[in-house]
Amino acid sequence: MSENTLIWFRQDLRLHDHSALWHATTSGSAIALVILSPEQWQQHDDAPIKIDFYLRQLLQLKIDLAQLNIPLIIKTIPLWHDIAPYIQQMCNDLSIQHVHANIECGVNELQRDFKIQKLLNEHAQDLILHHDRTLFPVGSIRNKSNTPYQVFGAFKKYCYEQLSISIPQCYPKPEIQTPIAYNIESEDIPKVEQIYSSNWQTNTHPIWTISEQHAWSLLDNFIEDRVEHYHTERDFPHIEGTSQLSSYLNIGILSIRQCIQALFRSQNGYFQIESTGQQTWLDELLWREFYQHILFDFPRVSKNFPFKISTQNIPWRNAPDDLQAWQNAKTGIPIVDAGMRQILATGWMHNRVRMIVAMFLCKNLLIDWRQGEQWFMQHLVDGDLAANNGGWQWCASTGTDAVPYFRIFNPISQSIKFDPQGDYIRQWLPELAHLDAKTIHEPYAKNPDMLLDYPKPIVDLKSSRIRAIEAFKQNS
Ligand code: FAD
Repeated sequence: MSENTLIWFRQDLRLHDHSALWHATTSGSAIALVILSPEQWQQHDDAPIKIDFYLRQLLQLKIDLAQLNIPLIIKTIPLWHDIAPYIQQMCNDLSIQHVHANIECGVNELQRDFKIQKLLNEHAQDLILHHDRTLFPVGSIRNKSNTPYQVFGAFKKYCYEQLSISIPQCYPKPEIQTPIAYNIESEDIPKVEQIYSSNWQTNTHPIWTISEQHAWSLLDNFIEDRVEHYHTERDFPHIEGTSQLSSYLNIGILSIRQCIQALFRSQNGYFQIESTGQQTWLDELLWREFYQHILFDFPRVSKNFPFKISTQNIPWRNAPDDLQAWQNAKTGIPIVDAGMRQILATGWMHNRVRMIVAMFLCKNLLIDWRQGEQWFMQHLVDGDLAANNGGWQWCASTGTDAVPYFRIFNPISQSIKFDPQGDYIRQWLPELAHLDAKTIHEPYAKNPDMLLDYPKPIVDLKSSRIRAIEAFKQNS
């Protein structure tokens, strides 16, 4: 008789190409578990919009699993350090020996799993962790001195070599299994308002569409219609030139293997780069990979430390009014405020604009990147510790392979270059919509007395640039 196995879903809410699910279902009759940890989410600054997306997809997953006769047990355990005894008891009650889950590489996540593994092992049970979130197992990419890569170019070259040997294959969807009798109660899936009662208003946010099928159609449309032009269109925030798949990858509605397989579909799954667009998108997927590996190999980055220890003593300004102006889209720099309106309204911001607003905060305002990192997490639908930390530390020049501190983006030049007609600004700042394509980037530059319902710049870009360069020169 085959044994019962437990498949514990975490940031991987899908049926297809799921490493742990496939292993659990091929080694026994699977029972699925999801643990909801609202206090932990709040401690990790997970945004309400992201949790809403997660909970709605969870409902879909429950339906999808039921079609395979895999029951889903939902249990609320507010903090992760209380999970171990519950899982161990569950294994006892259901005569389960093996628990399967996919590895998560954050520090708290690894500590949680270590604790569970230890307790299960004491009872002749086991937590089996599978690689799933990355293309290559975390901890496996090493240079000739057997240490982790710290520069993206070399990391990428290694990944290209591995991909040219073979592109990771997708796991098949599990078979329908014989129904199982079990006697553990499951809870209802809560609504996000029950968790974030004070600062969540459903009616002011768009509803991000859930389901694996929806993610596949986004992926297919992108690969068929847009990847060819990705390298020329990806930097223009008013164009839909990117895939908008980050939130799906982040909670695992879509897998990274599915993305890479789709990217090389027309080459029959062989690693042959045939266009600049294809290569540029691959490189972005590898940036994601790079930051996941950095988080695993250098856990200090998630403990509030800069990757470059030498930047630890930068004298960041304590400037609550400036921080608030940035958060509320009132800096008086249109491209920055447009980006901040976009994230406030949708939970998502275009990558080029993320770089502009982040660099403005930590260079022109000289405010600690950790304040921006935390605020992004609290608002992003795709908030991901590794990518968010990597992005912020890149912009702050404190990270691995980050931008040099003296190369500071001028937000106005960026605006003119990447939003030449001002379309993106017009979309998010309707109060400036009547301005022409020249004036919109810097409304008060030619006419400081112009009457507008829009603030004047809170900082002088030239002198604040020099202030930032001096702060880095003397303290790093
Ligand atoms: P595409 O351009 O279509 O790229 C495809 C996928 O590659 C993305 O979905 C994402 O998974 C990955 N990717 C692309 N660019 C990057 C990058 N620079 N770093 C890491 N992965 C990348 N991305 C997140 O997923 N979560 C975050 O919390 C996050 N925070 C960021 C904070 C800052 C300050 C910056 C500068 C970037 C951040 N990014 C983050 C990276 C990037 O902005 C988003 O992944 C991208 O905008 C998502 O849009 P897309 O899915 O259309 O991307």
